[in-house]
Amino acid sequence: MKIGILALQGDFEAHGRALDDLGARWAAVAVPEQFDGLTGLIIPGGESTTMLKLLTPVLRAAIVAFHDRGGAIYGTCAGTILLAREVRDPVQESLGLLDAVVGRNGYGRQLESAIVRQGDSGVAGEAVPEEMVFIRAPVIHSVGAEVRVLASIDRHPVYVEQGRVMATTFHPELSGDRSVHRRFLEKIEVKPV
Ligand code: GLN
Repeated sequence: MKIGILALQGDFEAHGRALDDLGARWAAVAVPEQFDGLTGLIIPGGESTTMLKLLTPVLRAAIVAFHDRGGAIYGTCAGTILLAREVRDPVQESLGLLDAVVGRNGYGRQLESAIVRQGDSGVAGEAVPEEMVFIRAPVIHSVGAEVRVLASIDRHPVYVEQGRVMATTFHPELSGDRSVHRRFLEKIEVKPV
């Protein structure tokens, strides 16, 4: 098993540390040739507009091809924005691999940066991590029928999966709870795609 972490911009190294904790092999990837032999791909948080600028057409095609041949993908925060079917506030391009409508910076300034805990009111779901770190997080407005909501806050999904695609609007790589990364590793077939 080898996970690629998209390293165009953003906090890719923190995901690397989370994978180290779980004993998974990983490599920073930034060009299509580095996708050979990967079994999973993480698209980290950062600034989705900047990432879009750095996402060349060949790299974009490599991500979609990786997905289409059975690769598992996990997007965090800006990564969720890139994976979504539709992005609002403002409208921007995306990969369309997750059937969700996402609004950027959806919580306004009060949730510019916040830590929400499992037991806090409004938190619900079957796979709620101990703590969820939000940084200028997008809001998931709606999801398609194929999307499973694993955790939500005030009825807005914050942790979802659709087959081999997983997304969180929070940053589990920044807290000690490794349950989200563990779930992602469990999704991954051992065979490279
Ligand atoms: N607000 C950022 C964006 O629109 C995402 C923030 C993050 O990834 N922490 O891309």
